[in-house]
Amino acid sequence: MPENDASRVTRFDGHGRQHVVRVRRAGVQRTISCDTCGWRQGAQFLPWLKAERHLAEAHRATVDPPGSDAGEGGGRASR
Ligand SMILES: [Zn+2]
Repeated sequence: MPENDASRVTRFDGHGRQHVVRVRRAGVQRTISCDTCGWRQGAQFLPWLKAERHLAEAHRATVDPPGSDAGEGGGRASR
């Protein structure tokens, strides 16, 4: 289950590179944008699933980061 309060989705690819998709809320709509390639898409619900799919399909980044980084953003306290 994706975290409801996450503001970004971070994954690593097979080369150990980090890819980040940000989730921004604008009213009921959410906009997700990829830092790596500039891809953007609107999503009304489950934006994190779309973000994960983009990371997997576009960047082959499917590896969950080991231990959530509490340094930046800090939106992942619920795990
Ligand atoms: Zn991308």
